[in-house]
Amino acid sequence: MKRLAQKRKTLLKKLDQNSEFVRGSISSVCTTCNRARCICKKMSSRRAYRLTYKDNHQKTRIVYVPRDQLPRIRKMIANYARVRKIIEQLVETNIKIFKEEARR
Ligand SMILES: [Zn+2]
Repeated sequence: MKRLAQKRKTLLKKLDQNSEFVRGSISSVCTTCNRARCICKKMSSRRAYRLTYKDNHQKTRIVYVPRDQLPRIRKMIANYARVRKIIEQLVETNIKIFKEEARR
């Protein structure tokens, strides 16, 4: 029991350490024609980056990401995957705690 409570504590701490997270994917578009595959006569190499995600109404949202913020947003996406794993482990741990407590 104590071991499980400790495990939950550790997982919650991990959750806190990864609290800066977002769901979504990064894509880039041409800054002139605004397309992923540039259709400009004179192809420009300038790209704009954006994060696409679904909000809580399942509506697709786009957020432009300044180039210098790309590493940060990539880390935030990676954190989301971590957070999901941690939550799965928390569910398992809470089930075990619940079972032990319900048995008494
Ligand atoms: Zn273009």
